[in-house]
Amino acid sequence: MTEFGAKNDLEHNWENDLVKAVKRQLEDVMDPELPFLSISDMGILRDVILEDGHTVCILTPTYSGCPATDVISKDVLAAAQVVDPSSEIRIAMAPAWTTDWISEQARAKMTANGIAPPVGESHDKAFLTGDGKIIPCPTCKSLDTKLISPFGSTACKASFKCNACLEPFEHFKCI
Ligand SMILES: [Zn+2]
Repeated sequence: MTEFGAKNDLEHNWENDLVKAVKRQLEDVMDPELPFLSISDMGILRDVILEDGHTVCILTPTYSGCPATDVISKDVLAAAQVVDPSSEIRIAMAPAWTTDWISEQARAKMTANGIAPPVGESHDKAFLTGDGKIIPCPTCKSLDTKLISPFGSTACKASFKCNACLEPFEHFKCI
């Protein structure tokens, strides 16, 4: 191996390590609206890449205009800069985020925390008007539930009430 090649390999490894270290750091960044889920679980963090010797964290916002996006960007930048002080945030609007990107593990965590995860196809606008789908109660699994408000504590969630156990719950809407 030439001296030149050896140097390249060394740089390559160092770059990989930096990206890996930033990714590890970002595993602890939670979704401010669902604090038991990381932005990685939610599919908001798309990737971490290396550009011109520093890391770039690529994020896709969930809902355009969702107020959490600003908070998430700041949290991600702060976490990434612990490892790489020159790290940057890039917002990628395409491909658009959909609830399909939420991992199975994240859906299970939602249910465990009393929030009904998105069901069925993404881009189903039925939830905006509240008709169409039956959302099972995350507490007792009853299908006898009723929409109280299409907007819950945040614009991303709808408020439901279970007619079986009478518990109110929130449902993360499909987009
Ligand atoms: Zn119930």
